[in-house]
Amino acid sequence: MPTISYYLGRSAQSNVEEALQAAKNASDYNALLHLTEERAVKRAAMVDAGEISGRLAGVPFVVKDNFLAFDGPTTAASRILQNFNAPVQATVVEKLEAEGAICIGKANLDSFAHGSSTENSAFGVTKNAVDPTRVAGGSSGGSAVAVKLGIVPFSLGTDTGGSIRQPASFNGVVGVKPTYGMTSRYGVVSMASSTDVMGCFALTAEDAELVIEIMAGQDSRDMTTLPDYFAPEAANAPMKIGVIRDFMTEGTDEGVRARVVDYTKQLEAKGHIVEEVSLPMAKYSLAMYYIVVPAEIASNLARYDGVRYGVRAESTTTIEELYGKSREQGFGAESKRRILIGNYVLSSGFFDAYYQKAQKARQLLINEFNELFSSYDILISPVVPTAAFGIGENTDDPMKMYLSDAMTVGVSMAGLPALSVPAGESNGMPVGVQLIANAQKDALLFDLAKSMETKQ
Ligand code: GLN
Repeated sequence: MPTISYYLGRSAQSNVEEALQAAKNASDYNALLHLTEERAVKRAAMVDAGEISGRLAGVPFVVKDNFLAFDGPTTAASRILQNFNAPVQATVVEKLEAEGAICIGKANLDSFAHGSSTENSAFGVTKNAVDPTRVAGGSSGGSAVAVKLGIVPFSLGTDTGGSIRQPASFNGVVGVKPTYGMTSRYGVVSMASSTDVMGCFALTAEDAELVIEIMAGQDSRDMTTLPDYFAPEAANAPMKIGVIRDFMTEGTDEGVRARVVDYTKQLEAKGHIVEEVSLPMAKYSLAMYYIVVPAEIASNLARYDGVRYGVRAESTTTIEELYGKSREQGFGAESKRRILIGNYVLSSGFFDAYYQKAQKARQLLINEFNELFSSYDILISPVVPTAAFGIGENTDDPMKMYLSDAMTVGVSMAGLPALSVPAGESNGMPVGVQLIANAQKDALLFDLAKSMETKQ
């Protein structure tokens, strides 16, 4: 599968033509919702004419369809935004374009990024790149599949509770969730503002690092962005690596645990020190996430009222009816569920019992991570307790679906950087390993992941 270097120095027009053709040939997977063909072809000609240059000159990529990007609608895979044409582009898309990268399409996702399988898309499920009877994972399922199928060498995703790491694990590609605030959220459809992070998928850690280095940096349009600090950092061996024991229990499939153990053995063979560590608050992370995140979703999605954006219900007589019917028609079941839960936990009378309690628990989890990072450089765990599940297998049971986020949401609540790196297979399906570092230590993760890749 060609990595970024294959595309550099070739004709941008042939790169784009080939990527568009590959996307059309793979349409059965439903990984992409729209191709941005017109703009891509135009930009490729400009790269070939020397009018645009940069570190990614002529390299095609796709964005998850919740990044505002020109040429065709930005739908967030929802009915309510299905005709929404972005007036601006996301900061990170602009940064990649400034380096010559060419967006060729918009990838499928769970509507508004609410989900773990891409089955909540209003425009059909995305199929797993390795076994099309299984889910691609989610919510950034389309972006992961587009890279695994070789349509593009990298793609963008958002990770609020695992939406990059989990589909990376399910499809066998590298997925990066940077430190919260390292990449700008400007121009990306908001889900939960305190954990939304923009990241990427690639075939190798080296490619992913280059993309993140370009995306990273302070943005005056997103006040939570951190000062520029992304700089390659050497992982001086030996590092101290802690395996999170709480995620290696019987609830995790045997095949998944075995791959994590193999990975730790390879780390030891490279001279690193590997020890088991415990994170007792981890068992509460799903519970706190599914209170805090719906609360933020309920607030962020209140702007979709049928007046300012997207779908507007017809023949209504009062404003309440207009809001109500537009939302009724425009949101899918999972988004409605989250809006209801969010408003419930924020309502007076329940705020202390749920929202505030969850935020206190979140602080205790953060304290435990801080404590671990005072002695360890990197923490390691599975990404998901299982390999990709079958399409339709978990759709009737939201609780079962939420369980696939058990190992990723805690990292999001704490704002830490994490990678999902391919680590072999379980019963023929890809399995990833999660590498977690302390805040702003993203470069350390890349360095470790790169050193592990060269070994293979
Ligand atoms: N699967 C998680 C959820 O449904 C994470 C979603 C995300 O990161 N966008 O909330």
